Order: sequence, then structure tokens, then C-alpha cells
Amino acid sequence: MFSEAELCAICAASGRDDSLLCVVESPADVMAIEDATGFRGLYFVLMGHLSPLDGIGPDELGMNLLEDRLKSGAVRELIIATNPTVEGDATAHLLAEIATRAGIQASRIAHGVPLGGELEYVDGGTLSHAFFGRRVID
Ligand SMILES: [Zn+2]
Repeated sequence: MFSEAELCAICAASGRDDSLLCVVESPADVMAIEDATGFRGLYFVLMGHLSPLDGIGPDELGMNLLEDRLKSGAVRELIIATNPTVEGDATAHLLAEIATRAGIQASRIAHGVPLGGELEYVDGGTLSHAFFGRRVID
């Protein structure tokens, strides 16, 4: 995250669970998740997404650093929270591969029907994501 100190406020905070690492595209995504959820893990901010036409590949996003961190053994779960866009999906696939190589469990946040929404008004792509991302009711 943006910070004037060496560690940002989230990294420096005590009591956060460093075994949970959430990957996002931007600092704004960190703020959104911080505001909306009780997530107490740490974040890895890519500062973008895979975009081969713009010359942005895995190294430009720091995925080599991420892989080193996963292989260090401190992380138990990688939570992939890239955007539900073509580029975000491609980035998520690569992140999942890196996690698998490092023997770390990867999950991706669900994307779906907005709260208060009605199915008949939801676009097909969103409904499809929601349908195939369904969970067992517990
Ligand atoms: Zn930080």
C-alpha cells in the first residue's frame, strides 16, 4: 500500500494473520475490501493486471516476489481478488498456477448477483459466474 514508512499501516499492524494473503490489482481494492469485510490477513497489490499488449507480464506485476513469498512457507491460503474482467481472469489463472506450484491453496472471491438484485435484470456474464460459482448450503 501507499505509505511514507517502510511498512504500510496494514503490514505494520499487529494482530493481522500473515498466513492469509489476498491479491488485488490496486490500492483502491485494498481499501474497498478493508471497508466491506472483516478480512484480517495481508494483501499483495499487483498495481495492475496482465496486459501483454502494454508489455505488462508477470515480472512487471511482481509475481516473482509473490512466488518467493509463497515458497517461504508463511502463507496458508492465497485469496485471489482480481477484477472480473478478461485481464483480471487471465491474471487470476496465472496466480492460481503460481500457488499450485508452491503447494498453497488458492481461492478466488465469488462474483455474482448484486445484493437486492433480481435475476432477470442481471447480465448474462454475471449470472453465469454466479451460477457456476454456486456453493453448497450449510
Ligand atoms: Zn504493506
